[in-house]
Amino acid sequence: MSRASAMGSRTLVGKYELGRTLGEGSFAKVKFARNTQITGESAVAIKIIDRHRVLRHHMVEQIKREISTMKMITHPNVLNILEVMASRTKIYIVLEYVGGGELFDKIAKYGKLKEGDARRYFQQLINAVDYCHSRGVYHRDLKPENLLLDSHGVLKVSDFGLSAFQKQVREDGLLHTACGTPNYVAPEVLNDKGYDGTASDVWSCGVILFVLMAGYLPFDEPNLVALYRKIHKAEFSFPPWFSSNAKRLIKRILDPNPLTRITIPEILENDWFKKDYKQPCFKQEEDVNVDDVDAVFNDSEDCLVTERKEKPVSMNAFELISRTQGFSLENLFDKQMGLVKRETRFTSTCPANEIMSKIEETAKPLGFNVHKKNYKMKLQGDKSGRKGQLAVATEVFEVAPSLHLVELRKTGGDTLEFHKFYKTFSSGLKDVVWTSDLNKEETS
Ligand code: AMP
Repeated sequence: MSRASAMGSRTLVGKYELGRTLGEGSFAKVKFARNTQITGESAVAIKIIDRHRVLRHHMVEQIKREISTMKMITHPNVLNILEVMASRTKIYIVLEYVGGGELFDKIAKYGKLKEGDARRYFQQLINAVDYCHSRGVYHRDLKPENLLLDSHGVLKVSDFGLSAFQKQVREDGLLHTACGTPNYVAPEVLNDKGYDGTASDVWSCGVILFVLMAGYLPFDEPNLVALYRKIHKAEFSFPPWFSSNAKRLIKRILDPNPLTRITIPEILENDWFKKDYKQPCFKQEEDVNVDDVDAVFNDSEDCLVTERKEKPVSMNAFELISRTQGFSLENLFDKQMGLVKRETRFTSTCPANEIMSKIEETAKPLGFNVHKKNYKMKLQGDKSGRKGQLAVATEVFEVAPSLHLVELRKTGGDTLEFHKFYKTFSSGLKDVVWTSDLNKEETS
């Protein structure tokens, strides 16, 4: 077992081990995860959605259709859906992981983009939108958070086919929306009289292009009434650095009338757009299996996954021997590769919960606040020492059903103070520390 996997309890959903939260949108949480069944590129992102909310909205058929379509799409500028799973309460959408952050973080950090760079991202955005529209999937909620970059700086549009989770559709086939980011939303969407998803996605792309080149929004008012008025009239002005060709195109996109607004085929023919344009190159996946999507939305009990915590991580005897050298202070200041390691460990035959309580009981009177999580504990000193507050991390591992290994690490504060604390702390814990007869002989 590797040290990393031995460091604590882990949460598994099917074959995926969940990690840190990457972000939280209006209808889902996104977590980093790893596929435990493959070596190499195992990173994924998992979107976790409350199952009951989807079923309540009677959106199942549309969502099922769109997710199946998206799973079959492998476009370089669309975030790929890899797999769909469900538990009794949640739906898990497994996505390709991209590590370059959000496109708009770039603007927040470095300001507006050069016209050529903005055009390159806009071309990728239009390619993604055009392709999904051609497959009958509309985004309906294009906004900065949905524009991610991979590690090579390639734009990936997220949430295609997923925004229906929070939308309602009327029988006439036009879309109705209750929420959205108003700054990027087309006037006909705000009117709520039903609209065509193609034209409204084009509007949002126009707002995004403006922001990339200007570094600020075309429509931005302190109150919603004023904002809606500006959007309805498409009332905005260009900064002086926009080229006249760029201005002409944006004016045609931000046309408040969806019927006369420029279409994607017309954008693809626009001179400003065409400069340095590269045709996206991809191939249609042929044997994509969508049984998982059917199972999730058909409420099939057989395929349900469970989110489970693996607690205290087991350790074999060899690892134990290599780790444990008794509960000694020498070990605490063990010199390893020139670094002073400030950690120690001891073994105990008491149950894990009893060890946890004993550590808590011993640490509290010494002035420590205790934060417990599963089989890990953080002890935070309440007095500020020479190098800030003393902090200690502990963790309990299971070696065998009746044998545990406890690790303690100094994570903050002064080493000398830690030394002092440790002496008192270890004598308080002597009831739970197990010393083998061999050890006793050696130390006596
Ligand atoms: P969303 O709910 O799609 O808006 O996601 C919320 C945030 O999570 C995004 O803005 C990203 O920062 C992050 N995120 C979503 N999907 C991924 C992904 N596939 N890879 C990396 N980060 C992601």
